[in-house]
Amino acid sequence: MKNNKLEKKETKVSLNFIEQIIEKDIKEGKNESRVHTRFPPEPNGYLHIGHAKSICLNFGLANKYNGKCNLRFDDTNPEKEDVEYVKSIEEDVRWLGFTWNDKTYFASDYFDKLYDLAVLLIKKDKAYVCELSQEQMREYRGIPTKAGKESPYKNRSIEENLDLFERMKAGEFEEGTHMLRAKIDMSSPNMHLRDPIIYRIKNATHHRTGDKWKIYPMYDFTHGQSDYFEKITHSLCTLEFQVHRPLYNWLTKNLFETEYKPEQTEFARFNLSYTVMSKRKLLELVENKSVSSWDDPRMPTISGLRRRGYTPESIRNFSDTIGVAKRENLIDVALLEHCIREDLNKKAQRVMGVLNPLKVIITNYPDNESEELDAINNPEDASMGKRKVPFSKELYIEKNDFMENPPRKFFRLGLGREVRLRYAYFVKCNDVVKDVNGNITEIHCTYDPASKGGKSPDGRKVKGTLHWVSAKHALNADVRLYDRLFNDPAPDNKKDGSNFKDYFNTNSLEVLENCKLEPFLKDAAIENKFQFERLGYFCLDKDSNENKMVFNRTVTLRDSWAKKNK
Ligand code: ATP
Ligand code: MG
Repeated sequence: MKNNKLEKKETKVSLNFIEQIIEKDIKEGKNESRVHTRFPPEPNGYLHIGHAKSICLNFGLANKYNGKCNLRFDDTNPEKEDVEYVKSIEEDVRWLGFTWNDKTYFASDYFDKLYDLAVLLIKKDKAYVCELSQEQMREYRGIPTKAGKESPYKNRSIEENLDLFERMKAGEFEEGTHMLRAKIDMSSPNMHLRDPIIYRIKNATHHRTGDKWKIYPMYDFTHGQSDYFEKITHSLCTLEFQVHRPLYNWLTKNLFETEYKPEQTEFARFNLSYTVMSKRKLLELVENKSVSSWDDPRMPTISGLRRRGYTPESIRNFSDTIGVAKRENLIDVALLEHCIREDLNKKAQRVMGVLNPLKVIITNYPDNESEELDAINNPEDASMGKRKVPFSKELYIEKNDFMENPPRKFFRLGLGREVRLRYAYFVKCNDVVKDVNGNITEIHCTYDPASKGGKSPDGRKVKGTLHWVSAKHALNADVRLYDRLFNDPAPDNKKDGSNFKDYFNTNSLEVLENCKLEPFLKDAAIENKFQFERLGYFCLDKDSNENKMVFNRTVTLRDSWAKKNK
């Protein structure tokens, strides 16, 4: 009994406000209890992690309630849109793990239908062709606390409006000279209802309809109608569209007679710390070459995160964790990093790699010999088994794992000290070789053959365990380390008027050349993910070729950034 109650309570608490609306609608049999959502990106850039949230939400709800989710391109701005973006968006949605119904939808497929609806609106005397200039239009609109002025063109006859609209379509007029406006209310406190523009002239080639159209519908005239055509039940969008909702409803009410109407519900956009999330701003970074491309691994784009080594599971999990909010919020990027660590910890193959190599000579190890030692592939998953790691007389360790005269608390290698080489042996440093400038070029150690596998032969203890790579077996690689893209947690929309680019972190990329990796990695494929022991998670970058491997560090093992900022 008690348990039952508890469970009930738990399920109730875990429903977010959108799920509550949906469950109520299902219960009441609204729209035959169907759940049909859509994800409606504008193909004017690559998707970012904010879109990932919207994708997970829309597709996730469809999955949860046995419904459908359409992928629909909201492509009504021909100048800014491109097929390149369409392709990347489809790829990103698929990569995130979602499939959509029968086909991909495009608002541009509805241009004919939307034109007919505009004509219908004119015929109902609810739309008119206006010839005010942009400036006049602004002036006539008024301000929220004061009514606007009626356009002198508002009382044109239906016939005249039909004729003018037809001629707009035929390309008889210049851009900006004529627009079609809905006839609503110039004194509404909601500015979106003050006779909003629904069609404008644009002499631009559309990426799908080419030069067929000289007029294009506005977002507001497109969105709700597209929702209607597709029988969408729950049209979820971000908060900035809340003020558009009365117009959304006015249009569906005046255009369609069925009882069914799509309904818009808003949720808050989230922002991610140390980055910006707007396609326009991200495009700026690409165009001014602050980053190499849309999929630069520092970018918060889905393609950037993928290239960086993020998994779809980690992003879906992140999206679930942040939930849906009614107010805009700033999510700490450390949470996203936590999600990828958690996923890769379970899945990633462990390997050893040395990023800043220091040569080690094992003076008592036979020349020209080597042996293979057992190493565990993933301590979190025994089914991943073991591999062989070669050991020989010349090795590399990390430069910063050695100090000639270390302080007492330094638990790594020092002159006269002994450490364990992971999976290999205890080694003791006896000598340091330097160049003319006094820089250490190599160190000389002896190993204890009785400590094979890294086990103490006699109960004696060592404080540190180091990763290493056998020199003659090592693969060379470039390794790219990343830092925050911006130096400020919220570089966007600053009150002091500064520009987000002022906060760009010019040290956000560090390339290490000639890193040494264990030979196991020779068969790695692009996007394969690994834990380099003690150093973090890495994945093979698409810039790799036969001569050189390139790895990206996805994330460090622990959040050193959080510590640094304490
Ligand atoms: P941007 O400003 O980056 O171009 P947008 O909202 O203009 O974003 P669209 O292509 O119109 O981009 O967005 C598709 C969907 O993704 C919309 O429903 C939008 O509300 C949603 N979305 C975009 N950014 C976020 C975000 N940060 N958090 C949640 N949802 C978002
Ligand atoms: Mg947009």
